Order: sequence, then C-alpha cells, then structure tokens
Amino acid sequence: MTLTQKAQILKTLFLQKYADAKSELHYTNIYELLIAVMLSAQCTDKRVNIVTPALFAKYPNALALSKADINDVKNLIKSVSFFNNKAKNLIEMAKAVVQKFGGEIPTNQKDLMSLKGVGQKSANVVLGEFLKQNYMAVDTHVFRVSHRLGLSDSKSALQTESDLEGLFKSDLNALHQAFVLFGRYECKAVNPQCVTCFVKEYCVDSKNFKPK
Ligand code: SF4
Repeated sequence: MTLTQKAQILKTLFLQKYADAKSELHYTNIYELLIAVMLSAQCTDKRVNIVTPALFAKYPNALALSKADINDVKNLIKSVSFFNNKAKNLIEMAKAVVQKFGGEIPTNQKDLMSLKGVGQKSANVVLGEFLKQNYMAVDTHVFRVSHRLGLSDSKSALQTESDLEGLFKSDLNALHQAFVLFGRYECKAVNPQCVTCFVKEYCVDSKNFKPK
C-alpha cells in the first residue's frame, strides 16, 4: 500500500468516525472564536472556556476590546497561560481590526495573520472552524497523531501541515478537528488507548512525537 492509498483510507475512517466534529472552544461568532483560539495557545480548551464568558460579556466586539484597559483584560484572563502577553496581543489585535478592517474580523488567511498574536495555525483554525474553509492546522495533537500513523516524518508543525495537505487535499478542516479529538481523548500523549484504537492497523510508532 502506498502512502497516498493509506492516507485515503485513514481520511475516510476519520471522516466517518468524527462526522460532526467541531471545536470544543465556546464561541458564538468569529470575533469570539478568534479570541478563544488566541487564548488556547499552550493552554487547554477547558481553561479557556472558563475565562471567556466574562471577557466576552465585558468586551463583546473588537471596538470595545480596542479601548480596554490592559490590566482589566489581564485580570479577566489571568488563569490562562502566558496571560500577560495574550492580554497585550488581544488589545493590539482589536485595535488593528478596528483601524484596518472596519471592526470586522477578516476572513482570509493573509489578513488574519497580519493581526498581532495570530500565526498561521490560529488563522487556519478560525477559517476551518468558522467558515469551513479547506485549511489544515497542526497543533500538538495533530502532530502526534499524524506521526504515529506515519503520515508525516517532518520535524516542524508547519512542514507537517504541508505534508497533510498534500496527502488529504480536501476536507482538511474536518480532518484537523477529527485528529484533535482523536489525539485528545484516544491517541493521548501518555497512555494512548491502543487496544481499542480504530486505526491501530495503520499505526507505525506509538511514541510521543512533539514538534520542534
Ligand atoms: S495504536 Fe495507539 S498510538 Fe497508534 S494511533 Fe492508535 S491510539 Fe495512537
């Protein structure tokens, strides 16, 4: 079996098993999703979901957040990792959205990545999750799963993203979310559930791969 054939089989299996997969971050619009994604870097979705209701209630749009007092934002998100930097980035992001995009979160990768604190991974997550656009994003779960399944042997997350795009071509947003959920609850970093794994026959190495 070639790698392309294996990828097609895995694609079908993952899309079947995770047919309605969506982000576990809580949000009601693209502004809230972008903030939740920015806060989730090196932090759990559960932790982010604890702080965002109060943050969204006080700052319901980019204009409000652009005028926020930094210490108030820090206080609202202080239980999230790297909250100092994230508070600064959130306000800078909101200012740029107001000044350059009329207060609306941009809906293309280039403009999203022009915002402070928004890298390619975050931009792709937002575009894939909210707009169902065909983007892959490689976080720690996607990296580990794709390496355990032998779909990539690249060292970096960005190169792994490119490998997965080349193999899967379509449904990248759905596959991203499927890999995240599979990695979070089954193919876990420590103690993966290999005995009951639905794709164990395709697994090449169960070690804990991490991006450099
Ligand atoms: S067999 Fe284990 S390590 Fe391999 S993909 Fe399944 S859960 Fe992950």
